[in-house]
Amino acid sequence: MRGFGTTIFSEMSALAVQTGSINLGQGFPDTDGPPEVIEAAVRAIKDGHNQYPPGRGIPALRQAIADHQQRYYGLVYDPDSEVLVTAGATEAIVATVLALCETGDEVVVLEPTYDSYAASIALAGAVMRPVTLHGPDYRLDVDAVRAAMSPRTRLLLINSPHNPTGRVLDRQELSAIAALAIERDVIVLTDEVYEHLTFDRAHIPLATLPGMRDRTITISSAGKTFSCTGWKIGWVCASPPLLDAVAATKQFLTYVNGAPFQHAVVAGLALPESRIETIRTNLRDRRDQLRGGLLAAGLDVHPCEGTYFLTVDVASLGESDALAFCRALPGRIGLVAVPSSVFYVDPGPARSLVRFAFCKRPPVLDEAVRRLRKLSTAGAPSRTRSDTHEVRSPG
Ligand code: PMP
Ligand code: GLN
Repeated sequence: MRGFGTTIFSEMSALAVQTGSINLGQGFPDTDGPPEVIEAAVRAIKDGHNQYPPGRGIPALRQAIADHQQRYYGLVYDPDSEVLVTAGATEAIVATVLALCETGDEVVVLEPTYDSYAASIALAGAVMRPVTLHGPDYRLDVDAVRAAMSPRTRLLLINSPHNPTGRVLDRQELSAIAALAIERDVIVLTDEVYEHLTFDRAHIPLATLPGMRDRTITISSAGKTFSCTGWKIGWVCASPPLLDAVAATKQFLTYVNGAPFQHAVVAGLALPESRIETIRTNLRDRRDQLRGGLLAAGLDVHPCEGTYFLTVDVASLGESDALAFCRALPGRIGLVAVPSSVFYVDPGPARSLVRFAFCKRPPVLDEAVRRLRKLSTAGAPSRTRSDTHEVRSPG
């Protein structure tokens, strides 16, 4: 697709492999998730769940997703007509955008923007209207959302907990989005893949707000909660007409996906809440560990309320270009991170922001911080200029 090269995540993971660096770039855990979930996947393969599953997902998983929404949030969905299993949240997002947007329709997104949003919107021939969340607090500017909306606005696409900033939108911000969606009669697509990975503030699903259930398409994924990002089991919950439209599109993207892994995710969603709590607190400890190390290394770290990611402003190291910095970092200290600047159409002051993933084992994080310390003592600013490379930008 014109204008979209290799994703920054693939580029940086390849660089980590080539250079043997510690990879705090692409967000994936370096340990397996709950053993019950892993064992259920192995069992499902051995039990012969290896052929096409039903188009909307196996009934047991659709029921488990509906139960999950009710148990955690009091949201009631009919597993037959209001739940769809997808090939990760990625397919759920592109199928929704393709299903609902025509050429020239507009989609309002929060910027920085997870990379697949811009590509999904472009595939539909629609137009992305970004609303920037400004660091270090990344609060939503409701007036900016209102200003970005027009009679062509078809979708509001929000993401909370938010990648890459780690922001978790609060009730006031979500209520403002809900009020605008109702006033303008717009559907909201909400990407909640990090719903269980919040540390300081509980996640509030947009669909729980008054008047929002039937105009909200909620997307999530097993990848983050159960540390199985390679399985690509995601899902959509929405009212029947919206779900039908997304399901019709999914049929011709992947048709179906991940039969044995669907069985395994049933086991994951059945785990007691205390296990999810343990996953959350372990990850919170990793955030605190990396945050402490980054601060001790003299870096300017932004607050993070959820997700796998911390944002750092490397301007304090005399660096002005995050992309150049991240491309040079493996060679300088054997570490990979992701430049947040590529998630903006026009990064402006975000040009020097870098994202570090903390979903790694404690010794790996310790070693990463030890390497980062070398930058403030010995580091000459990186000389690689980003404009000498082909840069994938979401714009
Ligand atoms: N949305 C966000 C905000 C993400 O960070 C990711 C990355 N995993 C995805 C969607 C894609 O999720 P999946 O791997 O389930 O396709
Ligand atoms: N969600 C992951 C991240 O933000 C990347 C997934 C991907 O590579 N597409 O790091």
